[in-house]
Amino acid sequence: MGRLKAKPGVLQITPYAGSEAGAGGEDRIVISSNESAFGPSSRALEAYSVSSEEMQRYPEIDARSLRMALADHHGLEVEKIICGCGSDQLINLITLAYAGPGDETIFSEHGFTMYPIATRAAGATPVPASETNLTADVDAILDCVNERTRIVFLANPNNPTGTYLGNDALRRLHAGIPDDVLLVLDAAYAEYVVTPDYDPGVELVRKASNVIMTRTFSKIFALASLRIGWAYGPTEIIDVLDRIRPPFNVSTPAIAAGIAALADTEHTARSRDLNAELLPWFMEETKALGLTVNPSVGNFVIVRFDSDIHAEAAYRFLFERGIVTRRVGGYGLPEWVRISIGRRDEMRDVLEALRAFVVAA
Ligand SMILES: *Cc1c(COP(=O)(O)O)cnc(C)c1O
Repeated sequence: MGRLKAKPGVLQITPYAGSEAGAGGEDRIVISSNESAFGPSSRALEAYSVSSEEMQRYPEIDARSLRMALADHHGLEVEKIICGCGSDQLINLITLAYAGPGDETIFSEHGFTMYPIATRAAGATPVPASETNLTADVDAILDCVNERTRIVFLANPNNPTGTYLGNDALRRLHAGIPDDVLLVLDAAYAEYVVTPDYDPGVELVRKASNVIMTRTFSKIFALASLRIGWAYGPTEIIDVLDRIRPPFNVSTPAIAAGIAALADTEHTARSRDLNAELLPWFMEETKALGLTVNPSVGNFVIVRFDSDIHAEAAYRFLFERGIVTRRVGGYGLPEWVRISIGRRDEMRDVLEALRAFVVAA
């Protein structure tokens, strides 16, 4: 054995578990990573191609033109926006900048696994807060806050549970957090949410000095492979993050495609409307099979089976029929399988396969 050692915390990281989507034929139904079923805007594809002419050049150092487009689109201040190589990079930068050895970060029990990974990487200690009805519990989170707490992460809506906190709960959460603790609102699925009591975090960022909102182009904009995330926060926080952000962290094709995708509001609306139609239909049909579905406002649902073993059997049954879903045992949900909302024809096939599984079981 060599004497070389990673710094404390690193080997305590449970590596991020991806899906098995890679292998298999063209006709697979890949509904394992909450990617958009409807694909990117044709305008984004076009912008991506055109940008290849500049491949020998470094991109903008700070994705300025994408930040300007985001500011313009959402009515935000460009200096309060930072872009990342996926929002995962921003989660990492936020954690590195604000938490270290001896510090704690809080997230909900079944929250997105990037939070404990980023926390350990920073040398800090992740603290899960228990949930109620598979939903973040404001009081449980606030109970975990102590003098070591540096960051509270909330995926809103949460992946993989699909549940969310409405405006009142969010305000109550923020009101209970000391102002020297950072509240990170991860709104990766914001564009899908159609309930009226939801705000992705813009309102809180405007009012408070300790809130940052992260967003992504990986979900409704269907640009997951280009790795584009962004965050909106107070100038002081953005300034801190900018100091440790690797320069040129968003590529020229990503910037070009992101700007074009943002401008294609019709495409985005169509994707949102289709999801808003297919999600409740799929939930109802799944329930009609006698299965339990957790209510979701995202572009995915989790479906419950009798046990860990049944969940694995269902997962395998679907997989062997070319349907790739996601097990979520790593999120503390071993009896559940996560299914992203794909196209209507795909979801019909999924229901057919689920029916066959239930009948055979
Ligand atoms: C998918 C997802 C993201 C997006 O990550 P990117 O790095 O931007 O692709 C962020 N947060 C949550 C909760 C997600 O599910």
